[in-house]
Parts: sequence; structure tokens; C-alpha cells
Amino acid sequence: MHQLIIYGAPGVGKGTQAELIAIKLNLEHISTGAILRKSAEEGNELGLLAKEIMDRGDLVTDDIMNGIVKDSLKKINKDGFILDGYPRTLAQAEALSEIFTELGFKDIKVINLIADENEIITRLLKRGRSDDNKETIANRFKVYVESTSPVKEFFAKQNIIKDINGVGEIEDINKIILEAIK
Ligand code: ADP
Repeated sequence: MHQLIIYGAPGVGKGTQAELIAIKLNLEHISTGAILRKSAEEGNELGLLAKEIMDRGDLVTDDIMNGIVKDSLKKINKDGFILDGYPRTLAQAEALSEIFTELGFKDIKVINLIADENEIITRLLKRGRSDDNKETIANRFKVYVESTSPVKEFFAKQNIIKDINGVGEIEDINKIILEAIK
């Protein structure tokens, strides 16, 4: 069973690569951003709260995110999963470790997708989601550096994270990822 996490800065291409990997390996693609955006579209309580936070580029609380991910992981009925957009804080990474232990997942692999910040900002501005404006992007990067980078160290200490260059053709990058997680 594949147990994957894709890590990296906002706009580095996590969603695109995770989607391709999920199709090719028959995995559940768990994108916390997509789950929150869907809730926002539906206009439920979580969605309304999340929309405001996302449009500022801030983070939804750890408790909410941990609950969402735990529920999703309990329901896996494909050949595994790829987590995209989570964990985004050290507290989430620690909570996830407990969830993994509880659910018996112990063969975790983490892909660290890397690209230059200028390249990423250009991509995000082209994409034009409601949180892809200059101010929000700047805040998302600040949050990434301050709150999310410790997550990389957390995985590095466990020796389960692999760096992959996120600049190039989508299919080429995808092949390199697939090779790296074999
Ligand atoms: P990107 O990686 O391009 O910034 P995502 O779709 O992963 O976009 O996330 C969009 C927004 O959703 C984030 O800026 C944040 O507000 C919220 N979000 C997504 N995942 C998490 C998470 N694990 N913890 C807290 N907030 C999250």
C-alpha cells in the first residue's frame, strides 16, 4: 500500500503531481486545500470559516485539519493515499504520526518538490485562484517559511523525505517522482 506525502511551497506543483500519481497508482488524493475549497463552495460552516482564512493566506486551525485528514485516512479503499497540503505545521506533523500509528501505516514516503520562489510566484499569478493575488501570495510564503518549514526537518530526521526538482515538464517531473518512490 502506497503511503505518500507531497511537501513543498505554495504553487510548486504539489496538486498537479499528486493528481497524476494518484491516477497512475490508483491512490486516494487527499488535498486539504481542495477539501476546504469544496466546503467553501457548498457554503457550510467549515467552508465559510475556511474561505476567509484562505483568502488571507493564513492557516486553518490544526484541530480542524487533523480531524479532516484522520477521517479521510480511515476511509481509504484504493491502493493507498497521497497527502497534499498537509501537514503544514509541526503540530500537524506530530498529530499525523499518531494517526499513522493508530491506523497501522508505517511505510511513509515524503516527496519534497522544490522550485525557485520567483518561478512559483509567476505560476501562481497566472493561475488566478481567489487566494492567488499579490498580498495573499506574500502572506502564504511567509506562513510557509515560518510555520511549514519545520515539517521538512521533522521528516528529514526520520530519513523519509526525498528532494525532487519541480521545474520542468509536468510528465518528466512525474516520472522522476515515480522512480524516487519505488
Ligand atoms: P497552496 O499549496 O497552493 O497554497 P492549498 O490548496 O494547499 O494551496 O491550500 C490553500 C489554503 O487552504 C491555504 O493557504 C490554507 O489557508 C488552507 N489549508 C490547506 N491545507 C491546510 C492545512 N494543512 N492546514 C491549515 N490550512 C490549510
